[in-house]
Amino acid sequence: MCGIIGYVGHRPVVPILIEGLNRLEYRGYDSAGVAVVNGSGLEITKAAGRISVLEEMIDFESKNTFGIGHTRWATHGAPNDTNAHPHIDSSEKIAVVHNGIIENYKSLRTFLEQHGVTFKTDTDTEVVAQLIGHFYDGDLERAVRRALREVSGTYGLGVICTEEPGVMVAARKGSPLIIGVGQGEHILASDASAILSHTSQVVYLDDGEIARIEAGNFRLTTLDNVPISKETEEVEWSLEEIERAGYEHFMLKEIMEQPESMRNCLRGRIDLTEGAVHLGGLVDCTRELVRAKRFILTACGTAWHAALVGEYLFEEFVRIPTEVEYASEFRYRNPIVDDGTAVIAVSQSGETADTLAALREAKQRGALVLGVVNTVGSTIARETDAGVYLHVGPEIGVASTKAFTGQVAVLALMACYLGRRKHMSPAAAADYLQALSRIPEQMQETLDKVNVESEKVAERYSQRNNWLYLGRGYNYPVALEGALKLKEISYIHSEGLPAAEMKHGPIALITEGMPVVFIATSGLQYEKIISNMCEVQSRGGSVIAIATEGDHEIAKQADHVIYVPHTIEPLQPLLASIPLQLIAYHAAVIRGCNVDKPRNLAKSVTVE
Ligand code: GLU
Repeated sequence: MCGIIGYVGHRPVVPILIEGLNRLEYRGYDSAGVAVVNGSGLEITKAAGRISVLEEMIDFESKNTFGIGHTRWATHGAPNDTNAHPHIDSSEKIAVVHNGIIENYKSLRTFLEQHGVTFKTDTDTEVVAQLIGHFYDGDLERAVRRALREVSGTYGLGVICTEEPGVMVAARKGSPLIIGVGQGEHILASDASAILSHTSQVVYLDDGEIARIEAGNFRLTTLDNVPISKETEEVEWSLEEIERAGYEHFMLKEIMEQPESMRNCLRGRIDLTEGAVHLGGLVDCTRELVRAKRFILTACGTAWHAALVGEYLFEEFVRIPTEVEYASEFRYRNPIVDDGTAVIAVSQSGETADTLAALREAKQRGALVLGVVNTVGSTIARETDAGVYLHVGPEIGVASTKAFTGQVAVLALMACYLGRRKHMSPAAAADYLQALSRIPEQMQETLDKVNVESEKVAERYSQRNNWLYLGRGYNYPVALEGALKLKEISYIHSEGLPAAEMKHGPIALITEGMPVVFIATSGLQYEKIISNMCEVQSRGGSVIAIATEGDHEIAKQADHVIYVPHTIEPLQPLLASIPLQLIAYHAAVIRGCNVDKPRNLAKSVTVE
């Protein structure tokens, strides 16, 4: 997520930092800032909003040659001027930029407050600045090392100190950092795009490494101060390629990074020993939620499909009646909502016009309103009583992929959080959470195995103009989502249906060779879906089955089988949706469509 830039050398630093921030912009951000060291102290300029706002505030004439900058994608604390990075310690000597999440920031904050520190922001990052300040005794590198011993979570860090001008300390755990090596200068950045206009010679930091960087040299050590030597490498990618991390399209990058985005989404939220879920954003309204008589999940498009999975999850585990509503319908039809109703708005951007309007409508009628959104500080996040963020990172491809799996995962967490307070036993919750915590690694297995198969299916059928997607139970919303992906980026007409509905009409469409995708993973309705597959095959349709690994029998009823790893039924959408994303992606590429910017579509639909 977001970006770090730092410079130490002989050239004026401000233009270099601003250029770096502009290069990092593609990653998505909500605020930006820089810190430079002048003769007398730190000069911090930071602001919510675009980098252009920062550019208007900053002194481009400054002669300083040493500083750090950041584009923030908020995870803790609203995206406002105060919470923008860099953050400083109370002595105002130390400035920090940080990518990632400090998981134990609450306990560290309490510890520091007990030692007289007053916090100025709501971020997790400020504890790092304050902690380094707490340990600082004239050696910045030592203070960083000492502070990081106390920190758990993920970080890419850039740290400077007024008492040691010309020394920048960087550290990495779970969030990338690169040092660009120039002539008498070094550039620190979270990805090579911010370095490449200066040098293509770089050193990649690995997790657990600390760098002490000066204009003419740098030194790498482990957290325990064991020296590391590394060769400088040549970056061969173009800027454009780097932004997409070498993938041809943002959509493919986002599909491929789902193991990582899922890890970020689940991080710190699952307690396997207690069989408990921690969702800080729900704490204040938990009692009200548990007493709710009815849940309404409202959303549009892909988020509506995730909400449908949510309905199944809530009804199974929370046992409170749950409905899913298209936001655009809900807002205009005089819905029955009262103070026993909790309305949950699901939206990646948190700005979807219809979803926002539905939420306002529900709030006005007295409902408790919650948000499940990705963008921190977005309008839906601000206008809801409570909520849970996805934390899957910025999504740039118009066709939503990692946000869908993030939404399903958050709803799965919420179902367990509330279920535990109703009927779900600690043992049942422990099994469920065990399965959920394995999903990131199973997503990786899925991606490793299904890409080639998915591409083959896309190749074979990309010229067919009508497809059907069928599933039952938890896989019915997956069928809807698979069909939507295909139509939105490859412009192929496709329909998703509950498999049993086929015989009530759509079966009339089946002709020789028509592709019909069945999501037929193992579960309660497995036998039934096999019968539906036979019905399609016997009418000449081509059956593409998404099945559970080890299910060899299914090949008899299918023309193609794509296997995904086994997980419990309620979590199957998290894995089964991946081959469908890939089929849609490859079909669009084969048909020459503009994958990241499909015709007529906008990433965030902020109009009615
Ligand atoms: N967790 C930090 C914050 O919310 C850093 C987020 C980021 O990676 O930009 O400020």
